[in-house]
Amino acid sequence: MSEQSAYGYTESGLYIPNPAHMARAIELGHACIETDDHPVGAIVVSATGEILGEGKNEVHARQDPTAHAERIAIDVAAQNVGRAGLKDGVLFTSHECCPMCSGAVVNTKLAGVVCSTDVDDITDLLARRQDMKWRSNTMRMATILNGRRESGMPQQFMIGSLHYQSGLVLLERTIELAV
Ligand SMILES: [Zn+2]
Repeated sequence: MSEQSAYGYTESGLYIPNPAHMARAIELGHACIETDDHPVGAIVVSATGEILGEGKNEVHARQDPTAHAERIAIDVAAQNVGRAGLKDGVLFTSHECCPMCSGAVVNTKLAGVVCSTDVDDITDLLARRQDMKWRSNTMRMATILNGRRESGMPQQFMIGSLHYQSGLVLLERTIELAV
């Protein structure tokens, strides 16, 4: 049995996320600091665990408000596979997707999303750091992902808290940039 087979889809259809994929997303998030972009990183992997696309937040670097890590990773993955749909693929992101990126997940028919930190973590951090102000998005990814209603299509899954402590370090950095 190869090492890679420990992760991915089980015979019963459960998805076991590979921590190495989240480690890569978090690594991409750290690279955002070079351009003063909020550190969020994301990758799209195939059903067999192959990395199809990578992205880091480049809103400031590109002067593009839609240049979120997840959207870029999805764009790159679609180009690499040569089609707009990414069925059975999975998005790994260091932080819960915003409504725009959640919409991209729905539109590309990805199987699901794995994240490290989520909206509740921002709320908790801001409660402890009164000096910090951040108009954060509070709409949950689940609101959009669960809104998908297509006959015969399975619900998109959401898995949280993978490499959670590393994700929190990135999130603290994100909020400090917004002071
Ligand atoms: Zn986004």
